[in-house]
Amino acid sequence: MVEKYSDSHRSWIEIDLSALRYNVKQLCRFLDTQEQFMAVVKANAYGHGMIRICQELNAIGIKQFAVATLGEAIILRKHHIEGEILILGYTDPQNIEEIRHYHLTQTLIDDHYAYLLEQQHVHIQVHLAIDTGMHRLGVESLETLKRIFEYSYLHITGVFSHLCVCDEITPERQDYTYQQIESFLHNIQQLQKAGYDIGKAHLLSSYGLLHYPQYCFDNVRMGILMYGVDSSFPKQTICSLKPVLSLKSKIVLIREIKKNETVGYGRSFQAQHDMKIAVVPIGYGDGLPRLLSNQGHVIVNGQYAPIIGRICMDQMMIDVSDITDIQVEDIVTVIGEDKIRQDVETLAKQTQTISNEILCCLSPRLPRIYKY
Ligand SMILES: *Cc1c(COP(=O)(O)O)cnc(C)c1O
Repeated sequence: MVEKYSDSHRSWIEIDLSALRYNVKQLCRFLDTQEQFMAVVKANAYGHGMIRICQELNAIGIKQFAVATLGEAIILRKHHIEGEILILGYTDPQNIEEIRHYHLTQTLIDDHYAYLLEQQHVHIQVHLAIDTGMHRLGVESLETLKRIFEYSYLHITGVFSHLCVCDEITPERQDYTYQQIESFLHNIQQLQKAGYDIGKAHLLSSYGLLHYPQYCFDNVRMGILMYGVDSSFPKQTICSLKPVLSLKSKIVLIREIKKNETVGYGRSFQAQHDMKIAVVPIGYGDGLPRLLSNQGHVIVNGQYAPIIGRICMDQMMIDVSDITDIQVEDIVTVIGEDKIRQDVETLAKQTQTISNEILCCLSPRLPRIYKY
């Protein structure tokens, strides 16, 4: 897309790889061994840049990765990422030769899908998804699971399921999660009893690990917490984690406006008094949610500055009336720290979404700058 650093003097993402290493270490304290850690790096590693993130993870000994698509998996292999790469979602059966060629592991999303793959007569490794109550992907009945184990081209090296309310810990949510856990345990026990080698079992993602750490099995699929971020408020992380990503821009223009003048498209902001405003070259085209218009803040020189007017595709305006010593070229921190902090969780709350969405919507146009 964009040449690596050509836009880095406009707006950019900083990735703190030492924070990533730290988070992996912290999260591994919940596990028996680091081998259980499966890094979820779909959607460009939640916007962090999946190639560099996986290279770093490989360097510290992480050898298991999960992505959402075949394309993501192939990019990793083309960049020499080692270890197992599990595709968590659907891959068109006609691409099965690529699954084999790149030594990828495909999820069997249901029995019909498994049948279609088997019909291709290509030997591949698969993990079998079991639906224990989320009703997204997975096989529901034990009989069907057993039938799939009889296939000859699909080599089942793992079985897994996914919890759908493990991030909430009200009694009702816990009941449901325990039902899912029971169902998972029941299925794998019955399969083993019937003599099938299920390979590796895995159930937990980030919040599963926080709230149900006794069910780690062979792998834990670690996404959002590895990036040092909570999905939403209230922050739940019981181990201290460090945010890996910061989002920065800079002031390119400062101007004075008079009382009653308006700012931006739709004239949605009107000055209540004479004020000083600044233009910042970042907008919704960079993935900054337009819902933050007239609502969000950024940090300039260690002080909060409100976003005023509607966020444009490539730019936005901020109120810098109260900011001391402001100059063109001053750094604007949208996510991250400059004496004070602004967390992605705050932006997520203000825009009624979760951190995950904000992060993975950060546009490829923003250069990622990696700090060791
Ligand atoms: C995305 C995903 C994960 C990672 O979830 P986090 O909450 O980010 O840790 C784990 N498992 C599956 C099946 C997923 O789709």
